[in-house]
Amino acid sequence: MAEAKSVAFHTLGCKLNFSETSSLSRILEQEGFEKRSFDDPADVYVINTCSVTDNADKECRQIVRRIQRRAPESTVVITGCYAQLKPEQIAAIPGVDLVLGAAEKFNIARHLRDFTKGDSSKICSCDITEVKGFNSSFSVSDRTRSFLKVQDGCDYSCSFCTIPMARGKSRSDSIENVVKQAWKLSEQGVKEIVLTGVNLGDFGKTNNSDKHSTNFFELCRELDKVEGIERFRISSIEPNLLSPEIIELVSDSNRFMPHFHIPLQSGSNKILGLMRRRYRRELYAEKVAMIKTMMPHCAIGVDVIVGFPAEDEASFKETFDFLHSLDISYLHVFTYSERDNTSALDIKPVVPVHVRNERNKVLRNLSFMKSQHFASQHRGETRKVLFETQTKNGMLEGYTDNYIRVSIPYRDDYANSIVPWHLREV
Ligand code: SF4
Repeated sequence: MAEAKSVAFHTLGCKLNFSETSSLSRILEQEGFEKRSFDDPADVYVINTCSVTDNADKECRQIVRRIQRRAPESTVVITGCYAQLKPEQIAAIPGVDLVLGAAEKFNIARHLRDFTKGDSSKICSCDITEVKGFNSSFSVSDRTRSFLKVQDGCDYSCSFCTIPMARGKSRSDSIENVVKQAWKLSEQGVKEIVLTGVNLGDFGKTNNSDKHSTNFFELCRELDKVEGIERFRISSIEPNLLSPEIIELVSDSNRFMPHFHIPLQSGSNKILGLMRRRYRRELYAEKVAMIKTMMPHCAIGVDVIVGFPAEDEASFKETFDFLHSLDISYLHVFTYSERDNTSALDIKPVVPVHVRNERNKVLRNLSFMKSQHFASQHRGETRKVLFETQTKNGMLEGYTDNYIRVSIPYRDDYANSIVPWHLREV
């Protein structure tokens, strides 16, 4: 592999994967690799996969086929959640050279050094229970915003979810290290850090221990003192882990933005029970009310799954009515799909796929109405917008503190700056 000197990356899935791809890229750049765009010829292609995406296998095959047409001599490495869950299936895809599981992905440089093209595809993986260490990662998109991974893995056992099998037990970075990373990012000109993790609210299990040595509130309190960063956002937090003290801190802080993303998944307590979620709708409603009392302008985003087994018309109506009644700003709607080795497979009756799709549409319409309503509530106000650096069709885009997307004709002096902006049309 000594002569292979260029590498290109493709990421599927969530922000956590994007931040990890950035770290893999930095690791290989330090090894002397030159980073290329995925559409250009390269010596090595790395695909960071996701287990949540439907058809992960099909998607992977298609991408590998594209690579083979473009650069048949290249080395193809597959890593990420899907590589951990189905290593043999991935290794069987023609053109795949290396499959790196969760414990091996950050050893990519060594694996590439040891690999010789022409060897049969090689799986470097271990049982997920052996995956223990924490690898810090961050991505910097266009200098404006960085996704900083502070926690990995999950100790919950939601019945539809494969993530604990793909990422292992809950473990976190130390507060000291996260604060250090935040300062470093500020020196690079980053204005906003989005704190990411698999189960972020469970932050604090460090040194491979099952017990918390600290918690997410303490992390936020320390980060709130990092003067170099003007904005922090919490990417997503489970409702049962969103404590009143975190809400209060965000409400009092100038750096933590008034924006929460809180997975609900269903508005029916029967379905929440079957999903093995650790709260019921009453607690969720309480948290939303608490946030809105302290910060009436706060944006609240909600994840919801439609078509989970046993979700009958009455349960779906309960979810719809519940979401309708909540003072929230937008929804991320997911359609349930079966995943191997999950206990949800045993729950009956299964919801027909066309019904799942119809329900998805209904909730997407509700999301559109909620987001329009939220934006119109703030029309006429002046709010601070962090403008990005890239132009999209001659326009410059950015977000207000409370996550309303703003688009204006491009102005060079506004790029990567926080500007008070008068919100006009919705
Ligand atoms: S909290 Fe539930 S849905 Fe989220 S990663 Fe853990 S098991 Fe999966």
